[in-house]
Amino acid sequence: MAKTARRLTVQARHIYNPEIEVCPHCKSSLQARSYFQWRKTVQQLDGPVYVASRAKECVNPQCAQRGQPYTSAAAQMITVPECTYGLDVIAQIGWWRDREHLSREQIHAQLLARGVQICERQVDHLYARYQVLLGCAERLETHQLQDIVAERGGLIISLDGLEPEGAAEQLWVVREVQTGRTLVVGWLPRVNHKTLAALLQPVVDLGLPLLATVSDKQGAVRKALRLVWPEIPHQWCQSHYLGHATRPVYDHDSTHKTVLRKAIRGAIRESMGEVLTAATAAAFSPSVSDRTGGHDGS
Ligand SMILES: [Zn+2]
Repeated sequence: MAKTARRLTVQARHIYNPEIEVCPHCKSSLQARSYFQWRKTVQQLDGPVYVASRAKECVNPQCAQRGQPYTSAAAQMITVPECTYGLDVIAQIGWWRDREHLSREQIHAQLLARGVQICERQVDHLYARYQVLLGCAERLETHQLQDIVAERGGLIISLDGLEPEGAAEQLWVVREVQTGRTLVVGWLPRVNHKTLAALLQPVVDLGLPLLATVSDKQGAVRKALRLVWPEIPHQWCQSHYLGHATRPVYDHDSTHKTVLRKAIRGAIRESMGEVLTAATAAAFSPSVSDRTGGHDGS
């Protein structure tokens, strides 16, 4: 029987801008490019979202790094290149398969139950992506990072975590933001500044120059970054917060609209009732009160 592809209903649209707003080299304000670096619809565990990442660049003619793109670290946490499933889905599959020992069929059923449109073969592909991601931790490609330093003058490091459903641990990811390259990935049973600093240690040990670090405002993250790189400028992931905040705001807005609509209709009915009662009383006309039924249903 032929399968009918179902259309994805996008729940939210997020446009990510780079967290870094001034050029780390010449301190000029970065300018947004007129096109997106990438954009796609991504299926996350709580629904499909449209995500676009816009790069900014230094336009100072005197700057040696003029024209080099800076992108959002938060956008890099949404998914991995050439993949239309969220990193949350990938981490969830990894947890279910490795830690809870669920079979491919069971994982597939779990994802379908959450509304993720996926076939069993894709579950295998995503599990392979998960293994590649974890494999990054074992091989930190020093030469390639030295090349980035030579080209860009230093590394920009981001640190962010994911907490899969039902997982007793969090999956933390350390990235080089300019290239989107994953540097270190690890499951942390306990998240505090010490465990996060230990996760960052292989990157610290490289001894390569850093331009900046990027993270959200979580206290332990801030403390860990200050501990290992006290001198390096830090930038918050504000878009990270905005991205996650969109849906609750939208939900609140929808609820608010419904409440408001009911309240207005109630008030209209009341005042209409008063007007009509007065009119009825004045005119002794039964036909006027008949019309109130029509307004009631609207
Ligand atoms: Zn510059």
